[in-house]
Amino acid sequence: VPDSVPRKKKALPPGVSEAGFDRAIAELKDALGHENVEVNGTDRPLVDGWYMEHPNTHDAYHIAEQEELVCSAVVYPGNTREVQTIVGWANKHQVPIYPISMGRNIGYGGAAPRVPGSVVVDLGRRMNRIVNIDGDNASCVVEPGVSYFALYEEIQRRGLPLWIDCPDLGGGSVLGNAIDRGVGYTPYGDHFANHCGMELVLPSGEVLRTGMGAMPGPQPEPQPEPQPQNSSGATDSQARDGAADVPNPTWQSFQAAYGPYIDGIFSQSNYGIVTQMGFWLMPATGHQSYMITFAREDDLARIVDIIRPLAQKRILGNIPQLRHVIQELAVTGKPRSFWQYQKPMPRDVIRARASTLFPPGGGDVSWVFYGTQYGDTAASIAGQLATVRAAFAQIPDSRFLLPTDVAADHYLHSRVAVCSGQPGLRELDWLNWVPNAAHLFFSPIVPTAGGGGRTTASAIHNLVAQLHAQHGFDLFPTMCVAAREMHYIANIVYDRADRDAKRRAIALMRDLIRHAAARGFGEYRTHLLFADQVAQSYSWNGGALRRFNESIKDALDPNSILAPGRNGIWGRRFRGQGWEI
Ligand code: ADP
Repeated sequence: VPDSVPRKKKALPPGVSEAGFDRAIAELKDALGHENVEVNGTDRPLVDGWYMEHPNTHDAYHIAEQEELVCSAVVYPGNTREVQTIVGWANKHQVPIYPISMGRNIGYGGAAPRVPGSVVVDLGRRMNRIVNIDGDNASCVVEPGVSYFALYEEIQRRGLPLWIDCPDLGGGSVLGNAIDRGVGYTPYGDHFANHCGMELVLPSGEVLRTGMGAMPGPQPEPQPEPQPQNSSGATDSQARDGAADVPNPTWQSFQAAYGPYIDGIFSQSNYGIVTQMGFWLMPATGHQSYMITFAREDDLARIVDIIRPLAQKRILGNIPQLRHVIQELAVTGKPRSFWQYQKPMPRDVIRARASTLFPPGGGDVSWVFYGTQYGDTAASIAGQLATVRAAFAQIPDSRFLLPTDVAADHYLHSRVAVCSGQPGLRELDWLNWVPNAAHLFFSPIVPTAGGGGRTTASAIHNLVAQLHAQHGFDLFPTMCVAAREMHYIANIVYDRADRDAKRRAIALMRDLIRHAAARGFGEYRTHLLFADQVAQSYSWNGGALRRFNESIKDALDPNSILAPGRNGIWGRRFRGQGWEI
C-alpha cells in the first residue's frame, strides 16, 4: 500500500453542510483550544502507519476502500469536563461523535467511526493518567490513554508485586480493550469481568459513576446542611469536582453496588463515554508455562473433551490457547511465499514446514495447546502439571514440552511472558505472512464440547475450514478456553493492496457469520463493517435483544450522536434509513 493515497472527497458528518461544519468546528476549537481539534481535510493524506504509529483518521487495516471509514475531525479532550463539552456540542450541531481510547483495536475497525464523517473523540492522547494504583487492594484506576505497556512500567517502577493482564499485543488501551470485552491470558484474562467501577459521560452530558462509585466517599468535614439540588443534578461539575468529591473507598472492591448492575450495558455499546475505569490486578505468583503438541487434525474433538473438565474444575490456571500448527509458522514472522500458490496451504506442507520448530523425534504436529499453571509453591505447580499432563497423555502421540525443551526464539517463550502479565508485540509477526498484510477476526463462541454433532467445537472448525478453502484463505484458528465455552478466533490475513483479496475476505466473513448462525454459533465481537450482520443474527423472539438495546439507545441518546451503528445499535435518527449493511 503506498504510504499516502491522494484524498478524493472531504468527509462531512451526515446531514451537515460544509459551511455548517466549519462553523461548528470553529466553535469547538474555541471551547477546547485550536490545538485540540484537527480537521481531517482532503489535504491530509491517509497514512496506514503500523501498530505503534497508527492513524486516528481511518481504519488502518481497511477492508473496504481506505477512504471509506474516515472521520471528519479528531478532537482531544483533556478531562471529563471537556468530554462533557464535546457531548454538548455534538447534541447542539447533531454531529455523530465516535469515542476511542487509543484506536489500536486492529482487526475490529481500529480508530475508524462506523458513520463516515463522524468526529472521532480521541480520549487517549491527553487523558492518559494512571489515576491510582492501590497496592494493598491490588487494583488500579486508569484513564483511556493508559496502555498495557504504560501500566506495566509504572507497576515495575513502583516495585509492586502485581501483574497486569494483557492481550496478545501490549500497545492497546487497558480501558478500551475491557469495554470491548477483549481477553488476555492470566487467570485475570476476562478483562471486563475483572474491572471494578467506571466513570462515564452519558450522551446527555451527565457524568455517572457505576458500582460503589455511585456513593460519595467519606467527607473530610462533618456534613454541612444538605445543599438544595439544582435541576441538572450531578452534571453540576462544581459538586463533582469540588473538595467533597472523595472517591468511595470501596469503588475498586465491589462491582455491583445496589440495584441493577448496569456496567454491562456500557461494554460493546454506544451508551456512554468511559473516562475512568477501575481494574483488579493479580498478585504476582509462581508460574510455569508449557505446550502440548498433538499429531492428528482429528485429535481436536478429544483435546476439547479433555479440556472441559480441567477448565470447569479450574485446574487449567489461565485462559489457555489451542492453536493449529499453521500458527507456529505464522508467528515465526516468515512470509508465506515459500508456498507460491494462491490457494490455501495444504496440511502436509504446513506440517512438514512446522516440524523443524519442535524438538526432533516428536513426529507430526497438527495442534498445539499452550497453558500455564500458577501457584505460590513449586509443589503446587508440580501437582497441577502432573494432573494436566496425565489427562492429555490419553491422546496417542501427544507430547508435553516445557520452555527449556524448545529453541530460544520459539513462540512458547512469548507465551511465558504474556501469561505472566508482561506485554509484548510478538503477535505482529503474523503480518509478514502476506505483503501489505491486514487482518480480520471471525470469532464465534463455541461450547467446550468436542464430540460429534453439528454444534461442537469440531463442527465449527470443519465449517470454518471448508469456507476458508472455498474463498482461498489459509485458516488460522486459535481457541481461547474459558470453561464451558471457547472463543474460537480465526484470523483472516489478507493483502490490503489486493482488491480481490479484500473482496474475498469480505465474502468469507459474510459466509462465516451466516453459516455459523444457522448452527447457533454467534460472534462475541466483530469488525465495524460486520456489526449489523452479527447483531441481526441474535434474532431470538423476533430480535427482542436488539429492540431492547435500541430502546436504551433512544432513551439515553435521543439525538443519536454517540457512535451510531456501533455493535449494530443505531439510534432513532439513523435506524431504517439505509445505514444497516
Ligand atoms: P484499543 O486501543 O485498546 O484497541 P480502542 O480505543 O480502539 O481500544 O477501543 C475499542 C473500541 O471501544 C472503540 O472503537 C470504541 O468503539 C470503544 N471505546 C474505546 N474507548 C472508549 C471509551 N472510553 N468510551 C466509549 N467507548 C470506547
